[in-house]
Amino acid sequence: MDAPALELIDVRAAYGRIEVLHGVSFVVPPGKVFALLGPNGAGKSTTLKVVSGRLVPTVGCVHIAGSHVNGAKPHRLARAGVCSIPEGRGIFPNLAVAENLRMMAYRGGIRPEDIEERAYLRFPVLGERRTQLAGTLSGGEQQMLAMARALATDPSLLLLDEISMGLAPRIVSQLYEVVGQLADQGIAILVVEQFARTALAIADVAAIMVHGVITRAGRPDELTDEVSAAYLGATA
Ligand code: ATP
Repeated sequence: MDAPALELIDVRAAYGRIEVLHGVSFVVPPGKVFALLGPNGAGKSTTLKVVSGRLVPTVGCVHIAGSHVNGAKPHRLARAGVCSIPEGRGIFPNLAVAENLRMMAYRGGIRPEDIEERAYLRFPVLGERRTQLAGTLSGGEQQMLAMARALATDPSLLLLDEISMGLAPRIVSQLYEVVGQLADQGIAILVVEQFARTALAIADVAAIMVHGVITRAGRPDELTDEVSAAYLGATA
């Protein structure tokens, strides 16, 4: 069997002396969507920081595709196929959609025109707006552009932090439809969401995090009671 795309084993992490993750363990298999859900301040973003190498765990292990990567710098993890969309989506608002995509060829190995073509196939609306400045796109279109840029790096593990934030439910469904397609193509995906319903609809496995520990994990249909509990909010 293939090694998990990602495995956390009893991970603890802190900001200064304040511990925020208190022993977190989970596995994301290759080509599967893992939804990490929970209320404000639960430690979801901190978990993503640990996985992307921006925060080193104080205790525990992080394995990417079977390799121990604790303490590895973000660029080494990026070379290992870990890709995240930075806060603010990481796009260049004063550049056109096409320029935002083409610059992802800086890593080599893929031609700028191929990056554009792939992006427009996946998100036709970006093709219609290729000359528009990225900063003038709608929130949903910006999220699509951010995802298209991430996919240009051919990730094996994609980290998505609250992609639904501030977006209309219809757009969120479209984005998650793409997330499901990416998993079908073999990309492992760790999605973090506060509001859960759409993420759960496509997730293969889900876990609920509260106060820095995972309180429940399992198939999405096994978690519906917990998910509908008040702390996840009633609007998702
Ligand atoms: P949200 O859904 O609101 O983004 P979250 O589950 O992603 O929440 P985190 O952002 O991981 O939660 O935060 C977990 C805890 O760590 C919170 O108590 C937060 O205040 C604290 N924290 C986060 N970042 C820092 C930091 N840079 N320095 C100190 N404390 C931090």
